[in-house]
Amino acid sequence: KKLNSAQIRRMYLDFFKAKGHTEMPSQSLVPVDDPTLLWINSGVATMKKYFDGEVVPDNPRMTSSQKSIRTNDIENVGKTARHHTMFEMLGNFSVGDYFKEKAIPWAWELLTSDEWYGLDPEKLYITYYPKDDVAKEVWLKTGVAPDHLLPNQDNFWDIGQGPSGPDTEIFYDRGQKMNNLPEDDPESYPGGENERYLEIWNIVFSQFNHTPEDTYEPLPNKNIDTGMGLERVVSIFENAPTNFETDLFLPIIKQTETFSGEKQYGQDKTDDIQFKIIADHIRAITFAINDGALPSNVGRGYVIRRLIRRAVVAGKKLNIDEPFLAQLVPTVGEIMKDYYPDVLKNAEYVASVVKSEEDRFSSTLNGGLNLLNDVIAKAKADQTNSIDGKTAFKLYDTYGFPFELTREYAEDEGLVVDEDGFKAAMTEQQNRARNARDVDNGMGVQNDLWTDFKEASQYVGYTDLVVKDAKVL
Ligand code: ATP
Ligand code: MG
Ligand code: MG
Ligand code: MG
Repeated sequence: KKLNSAQIRRMYLDFFKAKGHTEMPSQSLVPVDDPTLLWINSGVATMKKYFDGEVVPDNPRMTSSQKSIRTNDIENVGKTARHHTMFEMLGNFSVGDYFKEKAIPWAWELLTSDEWYGLDPEKLYITYYPKDDVAKEVWLKTGVAPDHLLPNQDNFWDIGQGPSGPDTEIFYDRGQKMNNLPEDDPESYPGGENERYLEIWNIVFSQFNHTPEDTYEPLPNKNIDTGMGLERVVSIFENAPTNFETDLFLPIIKQTETFSGEKQYGQDKTDDIQFKIIADHIRAITFAINDGALPSNVGRGYVIRRLIRRAVVAGKKLNIDEPFLAQLVPTVGEIMKDYYPDVLKNAEYVASVVKSEEDRFSSTLNGGLNLLNDVIAKAKADQTNSIDGKTAFKLYDTYGFPFELTREYAEDEGLVVDEDGFKAAMTEQQNRARNARDVDNGMGVQNDLWTDFKEASQYVGYTDLVVKDAKVL
């Protein structure tokens, strides 16, 4: 079947609307009234108020395509075929309404029926929680071949406390040949690392309350929460080796090629990773800024800053010497306009924010890279395999290199960075700043490793930023 990304998204939502669900709009990436989350990271993250009973939804059946950011996947981008910083999670939800007996056959119908996606059942594999006899039975009754149905201990969704339960995951077999994998790769199984089997959909059966006493009590109202990665499904329909050779990313990659001039996508593995990083990050950056976030030194703002700077360094590796990122913003808007018309509408504003952050970093980038390359060369010459924390801190503090960026850059050269040393240098500076003025750390942004440190730090490389960041202190 031939479907593009917009049609695939639409079909998912229409399918579940036909099954009595209400289509919910994609919510802002910035969580509303939820201090525990830095970003919306899944469809269900926007539905907490319904799942915990605080608000009763008009309709217990809901469906959405939710933009989601997962910072834990940033360093996977470009290295795996399937991870993005920002992706869309298609989902259907049941708040105390239907359960396994409907969620499973509906998933199968959407995936395999000719009226809908029409995927080949031979290519689909299912994993389920070994003790979940009910899920197993329902899958078999639905028509899944027994040798495509595999128990897996990992299929249990649990965040420590609160609703939890078994889940079931659906994988698509992309075939040995497509990925040039050895016949007998031990990691070749659904859930294995080699990506022959692409995880496309997770269906969570939240049926227990994980209590503070560490017991699992059955919930009076059982819920369904599912998540399917749009970009991954698109890669299947477009027969693409990774998510990036699809209509969602290729126009960005093509445009990036024109900035580079000499470098072309698909010629060199290391270059391709840079193209992918840029295409991935500009989407996340554009959407996050469009949702009201701004580059800064703390929390969400730091994530945006880190993404912009990582994309700029990726551009540098492709020999792009001019500021270029901001020019990709309208392209993102164009690609996504079907479901997110506001992104294209606000492209000029978003581009201006990206441009000023890019210009700011560009002014110290070469100095920072020179320092970093010198230190790497020296470490290699000395046959040490590490970069000291003071240098990493200088790169951060003077040249605006996020620690993660330095670490990753060093790792590509086979070196590690002394993280403890970095933290110590940061703390030292923090103490100096504390002594200099009264510090108020009440920013209220959690969940970010460096929040404490970042709040007290100053990018002395940028005069305009020092003033701005001083307000944070
Ligand atoms: P993976 O094992 O591939 O990292 P996951 O098990 O962490 O995925 P879930 O938390 O089950 O993912 O999320 C539900 C679905 O969302 C996944 O099946 C996948 O299709 C999609 N998804 C999750 N993380 C990403 C990501 N970083 N980029 C793109 N799609 C993602
Ligand atoms: Mg994951
Ligand atoms: Mg997984
Ligand atoms: Mg999963």
